[in-house]
Amino acid sequence: MMEEAEARARILEEVQLGPARRVILSDAVNCFSAQSYLARVPLPAFDNSAMDGYAVGAGDRAKGATLRVMGEQPAGLDRKLRISAGETVRIFTGAPIPQGTDAVVMQEDVTRDGDYIVLNTEAESGEFIRRRACDLAEGQEIVAGGDRIGPTVAALLASQGFAEVNVGAKATAAVISTGDELVEHGKEIEAGQIYDSNSVLISTLLSGIGVTVASTERCPDDQSALTARIRAGSAFQVLIITGGVSVGQHDLVQSVIRSLGGSIEIWRVAVKPGKPFLFGRIGECAVFGLPGNPVSAFVTFLKFVRPAILKMMGANAVGQELRRVRARLEENLGNESDRAHYIRGRYADGSFRPAGRQESHALFGLSRSNAMTRVPAGARLETGAILDIELWD
Ligand code: AMP
Ligand code: MG
Repeated sequence: MMEEAEARARILEEVQLGPARRVILSDAVNCFSAQSYLARVPLPAFDNSAMDGYAVGAGDRAKGATLRVMGEQPAGLDRKLRISAGETVRIFTGAPIPQGTDAVVMQEDVTRDGDYIVLNTEAESGEFIRRRACDLAEGQEIVAGGDRIGPTVAALLASQGFAEVNVGAKATAAVISTGDELVEHGKEIEAGQIYDSNSVLISTLLSGIGVTVASTERCPDDQSALTARIRAGSAFQVLIITGGVSVGQHDLVQSVIRSLGGSIEIWRVAVKPGKPFLFGRIGECAVFGLPGNPVSAFVTFLKFVRPAILKMMGANAVGQELRRVRARLEENLGNESDRAHYIRGRYADGSFRPAGRQESHALFGLSRSNAMTRVPAGARLETGAILDIELWD
């Protein structure tokens, strides 16, 4: 049985970052940047008005000032206007600031009469002027290599005029659920059979991190059927198999991997749930064997599979991690086993409360959870303790 941290490090060493791709910006969302990007357009790009109103000079900001409207400056083209003492320019949000402007007075604060306005309040110097580059300067790094490109970062790249960006590799995976007892949801079920929930769990977790799921299949515990499926699945970069990785008579995954010339690098890790976890290779394919129990499959996916795939896709070390927060424990927790126990529960408003049964088959409790905490072997944690929580929602 391997220690959790060692297993994780070994897997991360084994998997390699794939080749970068150049994609249009909208396709880059949820990918990882393959390079650093620097700002080439300052934000704002030029001094502009934050309001619809009137541009006034430094000597013309007092309440009661009467000013002649000498022109209009809309957004979208720079009329290169210049205001002199006693003059104002009608201006709109986003429009370039005319020369000689010291402030913009919003239209609600003036009375207009023909070509003249009267200021109803004193304007402060600089008011409602958005200065060039006050948000972002040219040359400033906007994305580092390995950063995830979410909607807001994609918007920032668009603001810089980037139509295409270089992102990390695509990852494609096959998913196989093994077990004679498994039936596809939507079909009739017979005594002793169960619905296959792992297929849905694993394939949606994969698509959630941007992996292309090439196939999702069920396979009985049959040597030749499993050999065919695993051989086909090993054509992709990642193969995830659930069930059949223990030592029972019907647990055939290990022997099939070996019979196909594959290697098993890790088998059994000191975590609960999830001990009979397997990592191996068939040719270039990274093979993950997850325990059949849904909660074990889930926890081992998050702790071992997810970071490895994110590395392959070009995520930096931070991006490979689940989000961590500190939370107050709302129940006593103990772990009498010899393995670290990931307790699943609900995190909200700074508190963490375990949810439902903490056994590896207990999918209902898991469905109520959005976070987990790692309780080391032999530890006891009291209500009120401040813990590290990992969030997956
Ligand atoms: P195994 O790892 O094959 O020994 O399976 C452990 C437990 O997980 C058994 O109770 C299986 O019935 C259950 N199980 C295995 N595969 C699935 C699946 N795809 N969906 C739901 N439960 C499963
Ligand atoms: Mg089984």
